[in-house]
Amino acid sequence: MKLETEILQADHGGYGRACAILVSGGLVSLPTETVYGLGGDARNDRAVARIFEAKGRPQFNPLIVHVPSAEVAKTYVEWSHEAEVLASAFWPGAMTLVLPIRSDAGISPLVSAGLSTLAIRVPAHPVAQELLEQFGGPVAAPSANPSGRISPTTAAHVLAGLNGRIEAVLDGGACDVGLESTIIGLADDAILLRPGGVPAEVIEAALQMKLRHHAEGAQLSAPGQMTSHYAPGAAVRLNAEVRMTGELMIGFGDVDCDLNLSAASDLTEAAANLFHHLHALDAKGATGIAVSPIPEVGLGLAINDRLRRAAAPRD
Ligand code: AMP
Ligand code: MG
Repeated sequence: MKLETEILQADHGGYGRACAILVSGGLVSLPTETVYGLGGDARNDRAVARIFEAKGRPQFNPLIVHVPSAEVAKTYVEWSHEAEVLASAFWPGAMTLVLPIRSDAGISPLVSAGLSTLAIRVPAHPVAQELLEQFGGPVAAPSANPSGRISPTTAAHVLAGLNGRIEAVLDGGACDVGLESTIIGLADDAILLRPGGVPAEVIEAALQMKLRHHAEGAQLSAPGQMTSHYAPGAAVRLNAEVRMTGELMIGFGDVDCDLNLSAASDLTEAAANLFHHLHALDAKGATGIAVSPIPEVGLGLAINDRLRRAAAPRD
């Protein structure tokens, strides 16, 4: 999809236009105190699928959701005493909390790559704050650069990488070339998932306890870790042409199946539906799920990566 990427100013008209784009499921790059983010409505499956498409990411890594306040964050995640302590101390700011997602959150499962937790943050940048206030919804936003390229700290950097792939960039000047946000997991015991702008010791002082440190190099998005969270109960069989006895089928394209990722063979639509369909068939108690072949191009790479993990042998 080739678009005319608009450059919006951080004024009345610019915020209004940015909100209208987000409401319609479009993508807006926004400045935060760390780097420019590539934002889309976190409740809109298609908008989230388009974030991955625009970045050319070969994998569905979970994304951080941005909200204007801790009060709003509480409507999406299960709050806890520790969350309250850290939010009071460090929000708005460069700290992300990973908490159990609320059953009524309404967030696209593509945002957290099918995990039962959600990464959430209240950014301090005044332009991000104003946009989130005016939009009034959760914004999923990874850094606004094509996968594998350096993170953008000006609107010009964003355009250099994503011009024609997103609807707009909201120009908030140069970001303080900050560090990424510190990510703290609070779903089990308190764990440092990624070091960043707020030092771990400062967080430990606020919590009055030590953080467990995530093993070096063992990214949560690494295959092993994700599979255990993600794998459906049913055995998953890939590149299936037809269902076998006892199987339910997830199709792609013009095929006979139980649920179709995209009858029109549209990979963005398929990505938007992927987690919904897997969960739906799993919930039906399928013992086996057969999946049509998905082309290894564009978002198909990320879809196939996720399906291979779902199909991987379990311990
Ligand atoms: P970025 O958007 O580039 O700042 O990266 C987001 C980071 O947050 C990635 O390293 C993810 O692995 C991490 N993350 C997002 N959601 C979760 C989650 N539910 N559990 C653990 N880590 C997460
Ligand atoms: Mg990044």
